[in-house]
Amino acid sequence: MSREARDFGLTVIVGPMFSGKTTELLRLLTRYKMAGYTVALLKPSIDKRYSEREVVSHDGLKMEALAVEPNYSGLEEALRKLEDVEVIGIDELQFFEPDMKIVELILRVSLEKRVFVAALNLDFRGEPWEVVKELLPRADDVVSLQAVCTYVDPKTGKRCGAPATRTQRLIDGKPAPRDAPRILIGGRESYEPRCRRHHEIS
Ligand SMILES: [Zn+2]
Repeated sequence: MSREARDFGLTVIVGPMFSGKTTELLRLLTRYKMAGYTVALLKPSIDKRYSEREVVSHDGLKMEALAVEPNYSGLEEALRKLEDVEVIGIDELQFFEPDMKIVELILRVSLEKRVFVAALNLDFRGEPWEVVKELLPRADDVVSLQAVCTYVDPKTGKRCGAPATRTQRLIDGKPAPRDAPRILIGGRESYEPRCRRHHEIS
């Protein structure tokens, strides 16, 4: 199938854990798939929560993903192999090395095709991820997602329920210390969505 001109552009989907980033990424990619475009999904090989060949969102939406080394050469090689693919998705961008060449590569590729990137806004300490921080203001479009704060007031037993923009890491139910490793793959046992007021570091 040939088209007049290739659709292009970069959309970055950003937010804390449990804000539905992967679900939104898969929704956007599926939309193009249904319109007859060729679509591929990449993810850093560090994320082994599910399997090497598949991304499963928190809502169970599935799309096969190619696991790539989370550095410039890993991404460059994968994108070169996918040269003819019209729409590219990249999940969990924050796990890629802090290398400006990665940012430049994504910007370059998104001049020729449509690229959707999903990324955590901040690490568990509330600090930005370098690659995400550099890519975000250069994107054509940003989708900012929020979760719901699950903090429970110990006095009243009430849930906060405010929009959550932070990812709280917990160790045995207590806030993780600032010097804990930056990357720790986990789910609800290790992380909670929190608002800014209830985001804690010990
Ligand atoms: Zn809160």
